[in-house]
Amino acid sequence: MKTDSQIAHEAKLLPIERVAERVDIPVDALDHYGKYVAKVPYTLIDEEKVKRSNLILVTAITPQKAGVGKTTVSIGLGLGLNRIGKKAVIALREPSMGPCFGMKGGAAGGGYAQVVPMEKINLHFTSDFHAVTAANNLIAALLDNYEYQHQKDGFGLKEKTWRRVLDVNDRSLRDVVTGVGGHANGLISETGFDITPASEIMAILCLAKDETDLRERIDNILLGTTLDGKPFRVRDMGVAGAITAILHESINPNLVQTTENTPCFIHGGPFANIAHGCNSIIATKAAMTFGDYAITEAGFGADLGAEKFFDIKCRKAGLQPKLSVLVVTLQALKMHGGVTQDNLVAPNESALIDGLANMDKHIENLRRFGQTVLVCLNRFATDIESELEIVRNHCEKLNVPFAINTAYTDGGVGAENLARLVVKTIDEHPSKQLHYVYEENDTIQDKIEKIAKGIYGAVRVVIKPSAMRKLRTIEGGEFSHYPVCIAKTQYSFSDDAKAYGVPTGFDITIRDFVINAGAQMIVAIAGEIMRMPGLPKSPQAERIDIDDGFIQGLS
Ligand code: ADP
Ligand code: MG
Repeated sequence: MKTDSQIAHEAKLLPIERVAERVDIPVDALDHYGKYVAKVPYTLIDEEKVKRSNLILVTAITPQKAGVGKTTVSIGLGLGLNRIGKKAVIALREPSMGPCFGMKGGAAGGGYAQVVPMEKINLHFTSDFHAVTAANNLIAALLDNYEYQHQKDGFGLKEKTWRRVLDVNDRSLRDVVTGVGGHANGLISETGFDITPASEIMAILCLAKDETDLRERIDNILLGTTLDGKPFRVRDMGVAGAITAILHESINPNLVQTTENTPCFIHGGPFANIAHGCNSIIATKAAMTFGDYAITEAGFGADLGAEKFFDIKCRKAGLQPKLSVLVVTLQALKMHGGVTQDNLVAPNESALIDGLANMDKHIENLRRFGQTVLVCLNRFATDIESELEIVRNHCEKLNVPFAINTAYTDGGVGAENLARLVVKTIDEHPSKQLHYVYEENDTIQDKIEKIAKGIYGAVRVVIKPSAMRKLRTIEGGEFSHYPVCIAKTQYSFSDDAKAYGVPTGFDITIRDFVINAGAQMIVAIAGEIMRMPGLPKSPQAERIDIDDGFIQGLS
């Protein structure tokens, strides 16, 4: 088969105006970033149309390192719906350059189900990530400067919680000391870097409903505690206007097209393990304004992405998804049945059957939210027919609609069955009203317990003493009604990345809390998860190059 890059270059792209016209996006409103990319003003969102649109969440079982194919299936479903004559618009996250050069490679779909131009989307795109990075780091610089300039007036911070960010996987920056080299270089402080997708600015961009809301949330960002014990916020420095100005263009969603010219909004990119994992509310509502069917992906497995999608994003935006599509692959199921990475392609029915338990637990979890679940098997060329039948029969027994998707190898034709089943399922059995895992007025500890026990299957939540001290200052205060965003490994229901399948009898250990007063969530950090990833021994960067004028290796 051709490489992703070849397929992307052979696709017949339409000028972005033609793509916009297909779903009645007013062409005059487009803000062009070249021939094939445009920003669409968020002010075109129409809440009445949003209410009438059918929102579909694409989520997955617990993934392997390379992913399960949610983005590929989201795009494929868009292609399939288009082919059966439905007006579908896709909403996805913007890829981070960290994983592009690290473990995972690009995130613009794959094979004949891609969004294009894939190099631009994967690298720099419309610079939203750079704007988030700049906004985040300007706050850090202004904060250090404020301390430096005002220390003579008796100002000081006993705790500084704001960190810098960079969209590069760089483990050496996790903990750093700034201000060394003499007094002229500022005050010495111990701090560190997170990856840009974990920035609170990214979360704010993805949760803000308009620019006024964006600015208000930036004003509210908590930066630390003053020597006399008061919260210190962006508002206290009077710089929210400047930070909002950096994001003035980034708040508008980016319109691109699929390899078959389906419109797709790509906007905002928090990871689902260390952040809330969903594209912007603005992009989802834009897709719902212009599409009768809007398809959106939440990151990693349904324990992370889907839980946060419902409990954080849908709650905040008042969204009611009609259907959850759970993506599975034979390989990932076999991994959950105990097969090692090198042996996943070989036939192994008994491991496959054992691995189905992971899928069952995700189905059960999604149903708890009131969701109708459809299982989509993302077919690989090496898949064995009899093994596909095992998954189909199992789903039939569970009364879960099941479809095989081959959009990766066949494009939209390969997703027509999936598309028809999606339409039929939404017509006949749409999801019920969302039933959140926790209520806003539960304590923070109860919210964590409900997620850890109810979704992950933990027996106990252990909160480390230093985290407990922080929690005591949060509980009962002005932030305790916020949703909780648990940062946890994506490779397991538990906080142990090596526990595949359905682990039981485990504890979830919370070692830190971060108050995101602007994004309005409490981040609880579980286990060993780092908010700045490192690079693997053989990073994808070794395989990315320019050949004949085209960038290769971003699959
Ligand atoms: P996710 O969104 O779940 O992380 P992606 O859709 O990004 O997963 O897919 C992960 C990787 O697997 C990508 O490199 C993609 O091209 C590849 N991939 C996805 N589906 C298939 C398939 N059916 N056959 C072969 N490769 C696939
Ligand atoms: Mg993805």
